[in-house]
Formats: sequence, C-alpha cells, structure tokens
Amino acid sequence: MIDKFPSICKEPIDTLQINIGYKCNQACRHCHVNSSPLRTEKMSNEIISLIPKIIDKYKIKTLDITGGAPEMHPEFRNLITSLSNKNIDIIDRCNLTIFFEKGYEDLPQFLANNNVIVTASLPCYEKNNVEEQRGFGVFDKSINALKILNKLGYGKSKNELQLNLVYNPVNPVLPPSQEILQADYKRILFEKYDISFNNLYTITNMPINRYADSLKREDKLSSYYKLLKENFNKNNLENLMCKKTISVNWQGQIYDCDFNQQINLQENKGPKTLFDLMNKSFKFNYRVAVKEHCFACTAGAGSSCGGTLS
Ligand code: SF4
Ligand code: SF4
Repeated sequence: MIDKFPSICKEPIDTLQINIGYKCNQACRHCHVNSSPLRTEKMSNEIISLIPKIIDKYKIKTLDITGGAPEMHPEFRNLITSLSNKNIDIIDRCNLTIFFEKGYEDLPQFLANNNVIVTASLPCYEKNNVEEQRGFGVFDKSINALKILNKLGYGKSKNELQLNLVYNPVNPVLPPSQEILQADYKRILFEKYDISFNNLYTITNMPINRYADSLKREDKLSSYYKLLKENFNKNNLENLMCKKTISVNWQGQIYDCDFNQQINLQENKGPKTLFDLMNKSFKFNYRVAVKEHCFACTAGAGSSCGGTLS
C-alpha cells in the first residue's frame, strides 16, 4: 500500500477559486471549512477589487466562488456584475437553503440574470440522509430551491443556465460511480419532485477539520485513511484540480486548492498572496504542496470540485 503522496507539479492555471468568507446559514457536520452563522471572517473590498485584474492578467477561464455561503458576503453581487463583460464561467457554490434566509429572496433571479452556474450540495435524494449530514429541514428547503431554479430556466439543457449537484457520502466510504448515481438522481428527482439538473458531481469526503474530528471521535479516521490509500489510483494524478487552479482565502492568501487552504498548507515556491500575483509575474511550474489528505483526491475514480477525475 502506498504511504507517501507522490510529488506533482503545477501547470498554467485556468481556474481561480475564491473563498470570500466563512459565514454560513448552516453548520454541517462534514464541513471542511468549519463554517457556521457565527463566523465573521470575510474578504476585504481591497482584495475583491483585485479579482477582475487577476482574471485578465492570467487569462482565467473560470471563477469559482465559495465560502461559507458566499452569497452572504456584502460584495457578492457587485463582484459578479463587475465581471459581466468578461467571457468567463462564474460558479456559485450554493447551499440552496440560503434562498430562504431573509434578504436573499431575489438571489435566484440575480444568479439567473447574470448567467451564474449554480453548483449545489445535495448529498442524497433521500430526506433522512440529507438531514443527518446537513441538518433538520435542509432537504425540503433544498427541493424547493431546486424548483425555483428550474422555473427560472436552470438545469434544462447544456446550452442554458447550468445547475449542478454535488454528492458526498454520508459515511466514511468512497462515493459510488458518478455516472450511475447521476442517472439515479435524475430519475428519482424528476419522478418524485419534477426537478431537473445538468450534472451530478461525486466528491470524496476530505479528512480534515470538522470531518476529521468527527471521524476521530468515532475512531474511524485511521481506517478511512487506509481505505483512501488502498484505493490509490495513479491515473488520477494527471487530472488533479490543484494543477490548474489557485485557491484564495478571505485574506488573499494563495493555496493550491480549497482543502490546502483550510489546513493552511502553502507551497514555498509559489505565490503567497493575490498581491504577489498582481505585482509580479509567476510561472506555474512549481511543486504542489501535498500531504496525506491528498489521497482523498486520488482514491478510486478520483475527486475534485468538479466531480470524478477518471
Ligand atoms: S452549507 Fe457548505 S459551507 Fe455551509 S456549513 Fe454546510 S458544508 Fe459548510
Ligand atoms: S487535496 Fe487534492 S487538490 Fe488539493 S493539493 Fe492535494 S491532491 Fe491536489
């Protein structure tokens, strides 16, 4: 069984992932960001103002906005409208329940007006499983939110407004086949609730922060690592998302991916902050900072923010 994660090298980036704040209207058990309604950390307006410039300078194709609930950042909407003249994909990592918080009622229409891709967590099509992981009442709200998005034209075809769902296992196991699960989700959500969506992304749970703590409490952390290592698939190394992505935290610090961001693991030779990236020119050919948690990205069919890798 492999024990040390192989060395991998950065490539020219095409995706900028920004975590604009940790505040969230939920506090899910598996959350690798430890988000909750009590978190106050948020990206400053000065850092946000650099984002359009970085997009131009490095010819970024995708801006992936995450949190917390990123929509709770006061500048979320201004940032999106300021990018309307750029030919890029903008992804909102949306928890769906935010649509029902006071002051966010018009959020779905805003997202549709700005052609924002909505990528939303729905860890199961069964109510009990969703509520075990994400809290009481979350399933019904998520279903209602998906219906609202469908009504606005989301999730109908690949040429229209894009609505993607994210699945991650409730238990410490690898996700099932993305293709088969997507077919199940599509059939069941349509038959039971008349809901359509574009893609289902299966994601392997990352054993860091709150999720690692909960595995530790249940004495399952070492067996989960064993599972990830036993299922190491070297074919996934080529497509790891960290190769072409940089991930920026609310303070403007740069990491290879959102997971490294959450454990504060930075590569020595890479740019340290968004200001570095703006003021100097970087070649993305340095090593990615890897550690044991990276085995979650290479196990089985692989895992990334956009689903499986192989
Ligand atoms: S909705 Fe997302 S960001 Fe918020 S607590 Fe749950 S997993 Fe974390
Ligand atoms: S956690 Fe995954 S995406 Fe992040 S550096 Fe490790 S292998 Fe790459």
